[in-house]
Amino acid sequence: MEKKQFQAESKRLLEMMINSIYSQKEIFLRELISNASDAIDKIYYKALTDDSLTFDKDSYYIKVIADKENRTLKILDTGIGMTQDELENNLGVIAKSGSLAFKKENEAKDGHDIIGQFGVGFYSAFMVADVVTVITKALGNDQAYKWESTGTDGYTIEPYDKDSIGTEIILKIKENTEEENYDEYLDEYRLKAIIKKYSDFIRYPIKMDVTNHRLKEGSDNEFEDYKEEQVINSMVPIWRKNKSELTTEDYENFYAEKHYGFDKPLKHIHISVDGAVRYNAILYIPENIPFDYYTKEFEKGLELYSNGVLIMNKCADLVPDYYSFVKGMVDSEDLSLNISREILQQDRQLKQIAKNIKNKITSQLQSMLKDEREKYETFYKSFGRQLKYGVYSDYGSNKDGLQDLLMFYSSKEKKLVTLDEYVSSMPEEQKYIYYASGESIERIDKMPQTELVAEKGYEILYFTEDIDEFAIKMLMNYKEKEFKSVSSGDLGIDADENKAKTEAEQNENKDLFEYMKNILSGKVTDVRVSNRLKTHPVCLSTEGEVTIEMEKILKSMPG
Ligand code: ADP
Ligand code: MG
Repeated sequence: MEKKQFQAESKRLLEMMINSIYSQKEIFLRELISNASDAIDKIYYKALTDDSLTFDKDSYYIKVIADKENRTLKILDTGIGMTQDELENNLGVIAKSGSLAFKKENEAKDGHDIIGQFGVGFYSAFMVADVVTVITKALGNDQAYKWESTGTDGYTIEPYDKDSIGTEIILKIKENTEEENYDEYLDEYRLKAIIKKYSDFIRYPIKMDVTNHRLKEGSDNEFEDYKEEQVINSMVPIWRKNKSELTTEDYENFYAEKHYGFDKPLKHIHISVDGAVRYNAILYIPENIPFDYYTKEFEKGLELYSNGVLIMNKCADLVPDYYSFVKGMVDSEDLSLNISREILQQDRQLKQIAKNIKNKITSQLQSMLKDEREKYETFYKSFGRQLKYGVYSDYGSNKDGLQDLLMFYSSKEKKLVTLDEYVSSMPEEQKYIYYASGESIERIDKMPQTELVAEKGYEILYFTEDIDEFAIKMLMNYKEKEFKSVSSGDLGIDADENKAKTEAEQNENKDLFEYMKNILSGKVTDVRVSNRLKTHPVCLSTEGEVTIEMEKILKSMPG
């Protein structure tokens, strides 16, 4: 038996790869299962055009078999197999992808579900194995072959006995080292979890012999272990199903199954886009603020799948910060992945998807506000602050969608109103949208500055969160109505008639005011007669853009 060497470049590449391109060793299983799925896909596509072939779904599957005693992990598939040539070319030459070639050959047909393209995934097996053995028999061939390699020092190929068409990849799992635990790749629970994580939506069943307990025969309290073959993956991704076939419960189950949250989602959004960039997404708006939302540990992002295979757990680029509470997943076949299929090579498609998703979330929230007010208010209680933050931080691009989603407590309605509702009920002569800032609704109710505006019969929005006024300052106006603090110098209320009287009073009491100003020196810049007080003897007011409340916040900020 002749030992062949990997090509020189391949040898170096292999060493480099095994040690560096994958951030997590567990990825090897995703890669081997993806290859097995591709191999079955190939038979499926062949059957589409070859009348002598039938594709009986039940006879196609992938099986993962762990043998702790012998430290082997076997990944078996009933796919198309490899000829001797293909073994040489596809496994002997790194960065050569038989799957990419297959896709190109079959371009006319619909062969685009195939995952492989880079021709490196297979070698990730060497991250966890000392020896990799491939036993394979290709469709239409009588002779099977065995390929074997210890990694960097080449491989052997020899004829071998195998009855059925398909491939078995056998990994001799490495011994544990001080830094690294390899035993876990022989552990049933760990393997199940890895399969669920990355390969849950592979279209063919991934089977494993799983340990179960049962009562011993003839006993009513003694249990025994037994092995039972189980399908580990869910196979059909919910996002590929027709929306009309899915119930709210299906979406809620998916939410729970994927551990997006412990609560029930308030709303789900199912998106299928078949445009320039194709993608499916299932997004959730949770009901409650995640427990770690305001901690450093919280990470925003959506799960990113490429063709049903998990690429990234939390892809942060898919949602803007102010929608960081949105959970869910995106699956696209149009992503340019890098060689480890962990990162995106260029994010043009991703940017497009992100923009699209952002708009979808905004429009869904708008319709929730319109049609499901109560639900919306529940949402707003949890995440309204984020929307204000969005208005504040992302001025321009998003103001238009977000400003309509804002709500504030109204002096008149005694509940939350939208800016649109405020403006629609304004009397004709009212020039501004009035607001008052304070710690709480009760505090603002007692503010002397609100009296004149309230007496005019004008509605006042109560700003009780520190972000409120900052966000509003960014908007400047809504439907051409400017925002005005009730504490600002000029309220734009017909004070003109009183102006002369006020001035006269100011002059009359000049000495008194001068005296007061001196006593309060450093605390106020002026003392004046006010025509806005009704029941209170005195009030503070500001000049310029920054109100007292904002000043407090600015002063409390570090730096
Ligand atoms: P990729 O999947 O990106 O093409 P891999 O390194 O994972 O790259 O695999 C290289 C090639 O080896 C595949 O393109 C395919 O032709 C072949 N191959 C790997 N695993 C199998 C398998 N289980 N059955 C049939 N062919 C396989
Ligand atoms: Mg592959």
